[in-house]
Formats: sequence, structure tokens, C-alpha cells
Amino acid sequence: MPSEKDGIMIILSSPSGAGKTTLVKKLSEKDNFEISISHTTRQPRPDEKQNKDYFFVDEEEFKRLINNEEFLEYAKVFNNLYGTTRTPVIDRLNKGKNILFDIDWQGADLIKNKRLDYKLITFFILPPSKEVLFERLSKRHANDKLIAEERMKQFERDVLHWINYDYVVINNDLDECYKKISNLINAVINNGSKDYDLDYIRSHVNKLTS
Ligand code: 5GP
Repeated sequence: MPSEKDGIMIILSSPSGAGKTTLVKKLSEKDNFEISISHTTRQPRPDEKQNKDYFFVDEEEFKRLINNEEFLEYAKVFNNLYGTTRTPVIDRLNKGKNILFDIDWQGADLIKNKRLDYKLITFFILPPSKEVLFERLSKRHANDKLIAEERMKQFERDVLHWINYDYVVINNDLDECYKKISNLINAVINNGSKDYDLDYIRSHVNKLTS
């Protein structure tokens, strides 16, 4: 039975290239914060480790987990399946750990709609501008310009989901963005006042989508 001593759930989503994965890793260094490791059918990238970055599985195993109802949420993203298994998350929340989720807007919606008895904070991370995003994506996919262009198109669609999140944070400078998120999390945990300017975010989104 969930109680006041339980951990909280913190979801970070963002369009590709906004720096979310780095932020999640940095936040997990905070005392009592842990990352939820997802399952995926995507192939590992050269720097990724099995059971650390993801549980890399084939489609057959992923479907077995779906049929066994082991997922808290799962979704198809860029033609691959991604999902969060329920048991490790609930066990750790019950032990008072705060759990960080690096998941997309579909997963965020699914978890929100579950209305679990744990506190939930959702963040959407945005790049400072379309130009900076394109630069970051071109660097990341240096040998395939088409991927960067495809991700830019995807960005136009993904950004529209900002409205469903509790907080939108702009990642202009990694340390500053980290501090903002960290302060907002602390404010939610301690019921403190939140430093958040929705009008500013609204006008930033307008710039990104115009
Ligand atoms: P990548 O393949 O670049 O690691 O992740 C692609 C996208 O899938 C990212 O937006 C990431 O947040 C999202 N993602 C990773 N794990 C999960 C998950 O378990 N569920 C959902 N819904 N999305 C996920």
C-alpha cells in the first residue's frame, strides 16, 4: 500500500536531441534517485551496455512480456518497441526510492492515466532553438544526414505534446537546466514554491513551431 514514505516518479521526455538522456543520468546521481531501465527491441549503439542502458531483447521476448502483462507502459518509437516493466519500479518506489523515467510522450501519457498512488512529476525538455537542435542532431548522426532531417521532422510533431507536461524546461546550458529541474523536484517533494514561468515557455514553443 503506497504511503508518504514512498518514492516519487519523475518522467523526462523530449524530442530527440534535446539532451534528456544526459540530464536523467545526472539526476540519478542525486541521493535516493534511480533510473528505470527500459526494455527495447532496438539494436544497442556501440557505447551502450546490456542491462545498464537498456534490456535489449528481441521482438519475441518483448511480446511475451506484453502478453504476461509485465509492462507498466510500452510504445512504438521510431519503429522499435520500448517498455517499462512494472515490478522493479513499484518495488523501488515502495522502498522510498525516487524513480526517473526517460520515456517518450506516449509512455508519459500512459503512466499519467494509470493514476498510481505515487507522486508523479512530468518534465518536457526543449532545445533553445531549431538551429541548435539541427546542429546537435547533425553531429550525432554525422554519417547519415537523412536521420538528422527525419528527426527534425519528428521534432515538429513531438513538440506539440509539451502541453501535457507539468513543467517544460529549456536546455540551453546543461548545468542550468539540471538545476532548474532539480529545484522543481525539491519544491514538489517539500511542497515549496515553484519558480516557473508558463508564459515564457508558451512564447518559446511558439518560436520553435513558427
Ligand atoms: P533511444 O532509442 O534514442 O534510446 O530512445 C528513443 C526514444 O524512446 C526516446 O524518446 C526515449 O525517451 C524513448 N524511450 C526509451 N525507453 C522507453 C520506454 O520504456 N517507454 C517509452 N514509451 N519510451 C521510451
